[in-house]
Amino acid sequence: MTEGQKEMTVPYIPGDGIGADIMSATRRVLDAALESTTDAAARIRWTEVLAGEKAFGQTGSWLPEETLGAIRASGVAIKGPLTTPVGGGIRSLNVSIRQRLDLYASVRPVRHYRGVPSPVKEPEKLNVVIYRENTEDVYKGIEWRRGSEEALGLIRYLRDSWGIELTEDTGIGLKPVSEAASKRLVRAALNFAVKKGRPVVTLVHKGNIMKYTEGAFMEWGYELAREEFKDVTVFEDDLPGRGIEFIPEGKVLVNDRIADNMLQQVLTRPDEYSVLAAPNLNGDYLADACAAQVGGLGIAPGANIGDGVAVFEPVHGTAPKYAGKNIANPCALILSGALMLEYLGYDEASAAVETAVESALSDGVMTSDLAKLTDAGKSVGTREFGEAVTDRLA
Ligand code: NAP
Repeated sequence: MTEGQKEMTVPYIPGDGIGADIMSATRRVLDAALESTTDAAARIRWTEVLAGEKAFGQTGSWLPEETLGAIRASGVAIKGPLTTPVGGGIRSLNVSIRQRLDLYASVRPVRHYRGVPSPVKEPEKLNVVIYRENTEDVYKGIEWRRGSEEALGLIRYLRDSWGIELTEDTGIGLKPVSEAASKRLVRAALNFAVKKGRPVVTLVHKGNIMKYTEGAFMEWGYELAREEFKDVTVFEDDLPGRGIEFIPEGKVLVNDRIADNMLQQVLTRPDEYSVLAAPNLNGDYLADACAAQVGGLGIAPGANIGDGVAVFEPVHGTAPKYAGKNIANPCALILSGALMLEYLGYDEASAAVETAVESALSDGVMTSDLAKLTDAGKSVGTREFGEAVTDRLA
C-alpha cells in the first residue's frame, strides 16, 4: 500500500458452482478499476468469508455467524451465487442473508450494453433501476398446505367469525404489506432518484384488486413523497403533459402504474420510466422481464441494501454444470461489483468498469452464452473475458 492510500475491507463469498470462477475474474477487474482512476487513493483488502457448500464442509454450518458479523462490521460484501441446500431447515441461504441483515431493498439496475443480443428492436431505450421490497409480501412465506391443521383452522375461523366460505381443499397463503416496510422502500427509491438525478419514480402495484396491501403500498408511497420529499417531487396532475420533457428541472415525478400495465409500458414506452418501486411479488416479475428485454439474466447485476449494510450479487444461480470449467459469464458479478464501487462512493471507478465491460462486449468479446446468440461465433473463457475488461481499464 502506498502512503495516503485508503484501504477498505470488503468481505467476499465466492459462492458455489461457477462462483469461484467468476469471483476471481471480478476481483481483478475491481482492483484494476480503482488503480486506473482518480479513485486510486483507495484499495480493497479482500477477505473471504464462508457461506454455502464450502462453509458447510469446513464448519458444519451453511451460514456461519462470523460471516454475518464480518459483513455487518464492513457494511458491505460481494457474493457469488449459493446452492440452496436441500433439507436442513433452510429455505434459501440468500433469503436467510437478506433477512438476518435486514436488507430490505432489492436493487436491480437494468440497461442495455452495446453488443448484447436482445429480443427487442431498441433495447437501449430501457434504463431503469428497480427497487423491490425484500422482506415481506410473499417473501414472508406464510403458507399452509390444503388439509393442514392450520389451513382447516383458518377456514373454520373465517366461516364462523366473518361468514367467508372456503372449501376444505383450499391451500392458504398470507400477503402481509406494512406501512413501515413500504415507506422505507419508497424512501430508498426516492433518495436514489434525487441523488442520481433520475426524473421519475413509479410506484408499481396491483391496488385495483388488492386494495389494502398493493393499493396501500401506493398510497403510503405518495404519502411519503408528500411528507418527506415535498420540495423535490411533482405529481402527474401537476404537469401539463405526459413525458419526461414536462418535468421541471431538478424535480422528480412520482407516479404509479398497475403492475400488468407496467409490464407492457416497459416494452411500449420504456423511455418514460427511470426508477420503479414495487412490493415483493410484482417487483420479482418486473425485474426478470426487464432483464430479459436487455439481454437476459446472465448479465443482470443486483444489490440487497439495508440501513448501513449492503450485499452485492448477480441475479443468476450457480450453473453447476459449468463449475470450474472457465466457461461461465462473469458479467453479472463484475457489474454487481461496479454497483458496489458506486455504493462505496467510487463513482469514477464504477463508471470505468461499466464502460470497459461495454467496450469488450461491443468488440464481440463474449463468453459462449452470449456468443452463441450473435454472429460473432467465437467465444472466450471466463478468465479471458475478465482480462479483456481489465485491459480496457489500463
Ligand atoms: P442458474 O444457476 O442461474 O442456471 C440456469 C442456467 O442459466 C444455466 O444452466 C445456464 O444456461 C445459464 N447461466 C446462469 N448463469 C450463467 C453464467 N454466469 N454464465 C453462463 N450461463 C449461465 O439457475 P438454476 O439452475 O435454477 O439454479 C442452480 C442453483 O443456483 C440452485 O441451487 C439455486 O437455488 C441456486 N440459485 C442461487 C441464486 C443466488 O445465489 N442468488 C440465484 C438463483 C439460483 P444454459 O444451461 O442454457 O447454458
